[in-house]
Amino acid sequence: MGKTHRGKGLKDQARGGRGECPVCHRTAVKVVYEIQVKDATVKVCKICKATASRAKTEKPAAEPAAAPTA
Ligand SMILES: [Zn+2]
Repeated sequence: MGKTHRGKGLKDQARGGRGECPVCHRTAVKVVYEIQVKDATVKVCKICKATASRAKTEKPAAEPAAAPTA
């Protein structure tokens, strides 16, 4: 498929698939990636999707902002 149709599926969505991410609250980002939060499906930006999928595979108690012990 040529580049002509890139993002065309997003144009059908509200505001072209862009908006404020409910997780990181950045605006004007594509909020089209679905993640499972408890029992609900939430649409987030790709960064939060990556964070969510990474948190699933790693240890559940892993905190990114945890202070180093040494
Ligand atoms: Zn986000």
